[in-house]
Amino acid sequence: MLNGYGGNILRVNLSTGKIIKQPTPPELARDFIGGRGFGAYFLFMEVPRHTDPLSPENKLIISSGPLSGLMIPGAGKCDFTTKSPLTNGYASSSLGGHFTAEIKYAGLDSIILEGTSPKPVYLFIDNEKIELRDASHLWGKGTIAVEKELKEKLGEEFQIAVIGPGGENGVSFASINHDFGRQAGRGGVGTVMGVKKVKAIAIHGTKSIPVADPEGYRKAGMTLFKACKDAEGLKPWQSYGTTIVVSWCDEVGALPTRNFSAGSFEGGKNLYGPVMREQIVITDKGCFGCPSPCGKYSRMKRYNSNVEGPEYETIGMLGSNLGLSDIQDVAQANLLCDDLGIDTISAGSVIGWAMECYEKGIFTKKDTDGLELKFGNTQAVFALTEKIAKRQGLGALLAEGVKKAAKKVGQGSDKFAIQVKGMEQSAYATHNATAMLLAYMTCDVGAHHNRAWAITYDLQVGRDKVVPEKVARVIWLQNFRPMFDVLGACRLQWVELSIDRDLYVPALAAITGIHRTWQDLETVGERIWNLTRLYWSRENEGFGRTWDQPSPRFYEEPPKTGVTAGQITRYEDVQRLLDMYYEQRGWTSNGMPTPETVNRLGLATFAA
Ligand code: SF4
Repeated sequence: MLNGYGGNILRVNLSTGKIIKQPTPPELARDFIGGRGFGAYFLFMEVPRHTDPLSPENKLIISSGPLSGLMIPGAGKCDFTTKSPLTNGYASSSLGGHFTAEIKYAGLDSIILEGTSPKPVYLFIDNEKIELRDASHLWGKGTIAVEKELKEKLGEEFQIAVIGPGGENGVSFASINHDFGRQAGRGGVGTVMGVKKVKAIAIHGTKSIPVADPEGYRKAGMTLFKACKDAEGLKPWQSYGTTIVVSWCDEVGALPTRNFSAGSFEGGKNLYGPVMREQIVITDKGCFGCPSPCGKYSRMKRYNSNVEGPEYETIGMLGSNLGLSDIQDVAQANLLCDDLGIDTISAGSVIGWAMECYEKGIFTKKDTDGLELKFGNTQAVFALTEKIAKRQGLGALLAEGVKKAAKKVGQGSDKFAIQVKGMEQSAYATHNATAMLLAYMTCDVGAHHNRAWAITYDLQVGRDKVVPEKVARVIWLQNFRPMFDVLGACRLQWVELSIDRDLYVPALAAITGIHRTWQDLETVGERIWNLTRLYWSRENEGFGRTWDQPSPRFYEEPPKTGVTAGQITRYEDVQRLLDMYYEQRGWTSNGMPTPETVNRLGLATFAA
């Protein structure tokens, strides 16, 4: 019996229909702990080298962590890992809500989808009853309708993860949706579920999770909840959630504006958290066990519709980045993406790129199927979002992701394709924010913010400074923050409520029976980071420094407007950042872990 764990890995072979359970290996729990750690391990070990992400040999690995489903603040996170159809590298996307608790209550730690089903199915799990069921009648439907239909049929106690038309049609950045508004959004995890013909997973369990020291767990859990309740930041965080940073980003020039050509938006004030709260928010909504719900449920009167959101990234990417300045329009675009099952960040990026192509004359109305694709055109955003999900006309090109689309179109459009490693950059403009720029350049999935949210450190230290302390900060964040995805809990109580991270140590010890300090956990984080780096290299010939370069926009084109007007990071400084980063990581000058680093982290068998 593994304390803190469901105890089993579920393997579902969609090609053969064979379903088996295997005990969770104790050494896997010891070295990789759970969540993202399990995902990285299974991906590296089980998906053969050079597998096509859309082939049956790719796997979709869904993992909870040892805190998931227990009475720890925000312990409702699970991780979806696969080989990314967007980047051809490692993809790992976190999902909140209530799904992961049911994984544990069903006596599981990971669900691994293997092979490809010959027809649409959904995976039904009710404790020991596990079946693939026909989903032909659900295929083609939006995520919201399908979740509703399955809950009505199976019961409210079932938690559902579902793909939309985006995943069915092979959009490279398709998402997996849950709880009518939570997503595993990034890297095309929904694309892989779609190509496997799995429309949904419905799960419910009633088993208890073994805990090493129940009284210690109770006390440590209570201490954490009390710290959240007493936190000064609780009220503003609960009122606005992540939209609390829209105004800050606008003021410091980090709000992506018109395809990241600037960092401040003249219509930004209409998108600020308090405006959204006043105009459209109906209520707050949280994940399993969350004492500080950041989800906002909104009503768009103009469209007679509701959505969970929009949160900051969506406001940045579908709002200011596309020149939209009405919060109802942004929320409606959010709803379209969620229902169609595509990532709002990547969708905002590819549409922003297409709008810039149109405004520069690279695209004409012949290319855009007649759409007047100018920044600020709300109806064009809605229409193009649908076209992407259905791969129609220009949408088919954009569905490939911005890097591949720019390569096909040429004419210098790659210079304003805002991505790293093929993943569209999330919503922080980094013309003059060197730590955040480095965080994007070196992120393990492509240009995503949640591994190292370093932008506040840029403001603290001096935004254009290129100093070893900034690099050290990025590395520390990359090793530490993703550990919440390994443990299966939300990081935002630490980030936003300033909860002392050491309070998690006795909780983890009481649950698992193993005492680990944060230093121990950071070593695991570093091990996973290096393992995924080895994975990228194994899968992509010539992988290295050239893959860590940012969009030229951030070192060639200073913004013309806003508070960062005229500011830019010099190309030489971009390279100096990488030199320092590789050295501090213990990597070669081409960005690969040295043999000493590999041995120190116990990864020799993976590097062989
Ligand atoms: Fe979920 Fe937000 Fe609470 Fe984190 S803070 S657990 S993301 S509702």
